Order: sequence, then C-alpha cells, then structure tokens
Amino acid sequence: MNKKKRVVLALGGNALGNTLPEQMAAVKITAKAIADLIEEGCEIVITHGNGPQVGMVNNAMIALTHENPKQPNTPLSVCVAMSQAYIGYDLQNALREELLNRNMPEIPVATMITQIRVDENDPAFQSPSKPIGEFVDAQQAKAMEEKYHYIMKEDSGRGYRRVVASPKPVEIIEIGTIRTMVDAGNLVIACGGGGIPVIRQGNHLKGASAVIDKDFASCLLAKELDADYLIILTAVEKAAIHFGTDKEQWLSDVSVEEANQYIQEGHFAAGSMLPKVQAATDFAASRPGRTALITLLEKSRDAIQGKTGTMFHA
Ligand code: ADP
Ligand code: MG
Repeated sequence: MNKKKRVVLALGGNALGNTLPEQMAAVKITAKAIADLIEEGCEIVITHGNGPQVGMVNNAMIALTHENPKQPNTPLSVCVAMSQAYIGYDLQNALREELLNRNMPEIPVATMITQIRVDENDPAFQSPSKPIGEFVDAQQAKAMEEKYHYIMKEDSGRGYRRVVASPKPVEIIEIGTIRTMVDAGNLVIACGGGGIPVIRQGNHLKGASAVIDKDFASCLLAKELDADYLIILTAVEKAAIHFGTDKEQWLSDVSVEEANQYIQEGHFAAGSMLPKVQAATDFAASRPGRTALITLLEKSRDAIQGKTGTMFHA
C-alpha cells in the first residue's frame, strides 16, 4: 500500500471571506475541498491567512479603547492570536460536519494556537509591507492615517489598505505538539495567519507588532513536517507571467530555476503572488521529491492529480 502523501494546505483569503457571515459560508466550501483531498489519500495539515480577520479584530479592539480609556490598546500579536481562534473555530466545525456528512472515518480535528519566532533585527520592521483589513478609498485612507497613525498603501489597483511589518518566520514554537498531533493522524489547523509573531528574550517570548506572511510560515511548517506537498490555495487557478497584460501566460509546470528567473524579472506582485511563488520555490528546492502547487480552492483535487495549477519542482 502506498504511504499517504503529507500535504500542507495553505488557505488564502477567498477560502474564508471578509465578514463573520461570509466566513461561515466560505468554510463550508473550503471543508469540501479539504475532504476531497483526504478522499484522494492525502494527510492534510491546514494553515491559513488572516488579513481581513486580523484587521477586523484590530479595529474592534481600537474602538474598545476609544470607548473605554481604562482598556489599554491590544497588541497586534494578541489580535493575531484572536484571529487564529476565531478562524480555527469555524474551520473545525465545518470540517467535522463535512467528514460526518460523507461518512468518512472519524478524524479528530483541532486548532493549535501557534507562535512563530521572528528576528527582532529583521529589516521588515523598518518597512511595513503587509496589507491587512478592508479596502478603503484614498480619502478614507488619509483619514485613517491621521486618526490612527496607520500606514496606508495602495494594493494592486484594488484600493488602499493598512500595511504592517511582515518579518520572516524563523522557528515554530509549538512544532513539537503539531508534529505529535499530525503523526497521530489528527487533522490539524496550525500557523494560522502566519503564526503569532514573537521575539525571544531569554526564556520569555514577547509578542511583536507584525503579521507574518502565511505563505512563508506554511513553507516553514511543510519543511518541518517533512511534507511531500505544499499546496497554496488562492483566488487564481495558476500563477502567470506578464500577468494582466496581453502577453499573459499561465504557468503549468516550472522548475526552481525558471521560477527564480521569473521572480527576478518581476512577474509576481509583492504581498500577493510573490510570497506564494517564493514559498513554493523554496519548498521545492529544499529536498528532492518535494513539490509545491499554487491553484484555486475549488481545483485542489484536480491539481493534486496533476490536471491543473502551477506545479513547482526541483
Ligand atoms: P491570498 O488571500 O490567497 O493570499 P492574494 O490576493 O494575496 O490572495 O494573492 C492572489 C492574487 O495575486 C490573485 O488574485 C491575483 O490578482 C494576484 N496576482 C498578482 N500577480 C500575479 C501573477 N503573476 N499571476 C497570478 N496572479 C497574480
Ligand atoms: Mg495574501
């Protein structure tokens, strides 16, 4: 009998939606895609982004401080922790229900609140780049800069969003527990929102004001768990070169060498497709036999069968 393929599955924004009711609806579709992969014989470990959710939690906590001066400001690291629990809660329930509906053998589903160590000297702390929260127009962006001292940036022609520091993940603090649960056959949700960023101060872990990119955190987790696949599910079926131009060319199969060349030529937008391609390339290059895929949530079964998506290999 073939050994199960171990897959780290990174869920993008479209797998979760932007509001509470949207997320409740989106996780049902997401759970179907995950159950499809389990039926294909994959052992799944789930990670996810949290851009809209961490922005929402952060705004809510700021409103609380404005309303009641006795409530001090909530650090961004705590907002990430809250978003992990909120997203994990919806995913756990949707997965449980979908597995029961399909009469699949019972798989325990659990979310691991995960901290990830970052380097306090990471240059990313000096130049915030990661968009979080909702899109606003130029006028609203200006008002938010003045009122909350946020740094607002234009995001891929879709409007303005707040940007925060996005340091690289260095070490997954709870990796031992995650590995134990995965090895025991549990369906684990970990490193949500890229993990809670922390800095080591002796024996103390201090929360950092940042949001780690979930694509890089997922790559680190996939390496640490010695996964066979890193699958990054997003809003496009494939990555493209000359994206959005009349020379656009969708990529089906790329070697690490080709991917590095396309990255250098600037084909992938920073903060959206670039971290995915970098994470996919890094994982594929890290050990022979490791494969990365970027595709659409609804196409994950087809992609693992080699029918679609952009595949990265050594
Ligand atoms: P996620 O929430 O899944 O991380 P993002 O919005 O951050 O999704 O990134 C996916 C988006 O990246 C796509 O919807 C697409 O608009 C954009 N994108 C930028 N450059 C490219 C490219 N070269 N090929 C494909 N998509 C690209
Ligand atoms: Mg993203």
